[in-house]
Amino acid sequence: MGESGNALFPTYARYPLRFVKGEGSRLWDDSGKEYLDLMCGLAVTNLGHAPKRVAEKLKQQVDTLWHTSNLFHIPDQEKLAQLLVRNSCADAVFFCNSGAEANEAAIKLARRYYKQVLNQPERYEIITFHMSFHGRTLATLTATGQDKVKDGFAPLPEGFVYAPYNDAEALEQAIGPKTCAIMLEMVQGEGGVNPADPAFVAKARELCDRHGLLLIVDEIQTGMGRTGKLFAYEHYGIEPDIFTLAKGLGSGIPIGAMLGKEKLRAAFGAGSHGSTFGGNYLSAAAGIATLEIMLEEKVAERAAELGNYIVESLRSRLADNPLVSQVRGLGLLLGIECKQPVAEMIRQLQERGVLVVAAGLNVIRLAPSLLIAKEDVDRGLEAICAVLAQQAATAV
Ligand SMILES: *Cc1c(COP(=O)(O)O)cnc(C)c1O
Repeated sequence: MGESGNALFPTYARYPLRFVKGEGSRLWDDSGKEYLDLMCGLAVTNLGHAPKRVAEKLKQQVDTLWHTSNLFHIPDQEKLAQLLVRNSCADAVFFCNSGAEANEAAIKLARRYYKQVLNQPERYEIITFHMSFHGRTLATLTATGQDKVKDGFAPLPEGFVYAPYNDAEALEQAIGPKTCAIMLEMVQGEGGVNPADPAFVAKARELCDRHGLLLIVDEIQTGMGRTGKLFAYEHYGIEPDIFTLAKGLGSGIPIGAMLGKEKLRAAFGAGSHGSTFGGNYLSAAAGIATLEIMLEEKVAERAAELGNYIVESLRSRLADNPLVSQVRGLGLLLGIECKQPVAEMIRQLQERGVLVVAAGLNVIRLAPSLLIAKEDVDRGLEAICAVLAQQAATAV
């Protein structure tokens, strides 16, 4: 028995906050204090907390049917797949429960496509990037270009090589006879809110075409309207062969998805991969309602406009703050890079009732609800600029 009565593995350094209710961009803790949520549970609750239409659909589903098995047809899973395919470059979808699982499925699909469809078993290596983040399973933490997530977990699976992000020349040099795919984020979320250069993405696509490689785009954080398009690859005028979704897809109900082009269908035949829960009645219902709202209410367009407003506002208000080195991002996935660690400023913002999250050590990441009211944005920016000003004053 745990000494402190704490029955959880201590995998998270948690803040001493306990939320009991959420609505839109607001959360309330167990003392009744109200918070403005500018992080959305790490880019998950893109439509705010407990969005009405998703809640209604879930309530109906809770009273009807929760789970059967992927041994049977699940009409809402098929419907969600149709919606995703109709609104993206993909032709087929595999559902799972998380981002790591979606990337795991992408890695497995890429390997199997080369082995069994193209009959090139010697090509299994995937190029990923420094400071990327792809998940915490053994394969996805190996794909991740950050040593801290690998610490203590060796031996790691083979087949991953790393290249510097936004460096087209280095990427070209990393390609070898074993390469089967390039896997990248359009904006590195965990790695510090680093958007990909358009020329780098164009080059990655061109290299994939030239060498017959698969381009895998991890849209787990950037997808579902977050960057001002439904999927971030749309900003870059390219189409991935595979892309992955999770975070925002179910508005907080666990669901992940791996989406791919028609030619890949044959590599994932019956029995090749699977998931007990993936795309069950409850999570599919949440996904359908979330996506329908996004499409009907043009949520991504709103995120693009609001994102531009926030970037301009922060750039002008923080121009004279010596602590701030850059404000960057895409849509409503934004980073304020500081010249020092941001943990203390994040804590001070919590005291003021504003929730943001770090990306790496020195970046304050903003990922507000895509439906956040403009007044709330202004109130949040006011608090952020005040805390940054205060910190700059004490630092000098
Ligand atoms: C969060 C995240 C993941 C992992 O998702 P989980 O649901 O935590 O497994 C993978 N890739 C990116 C880009 C992410 O932001």
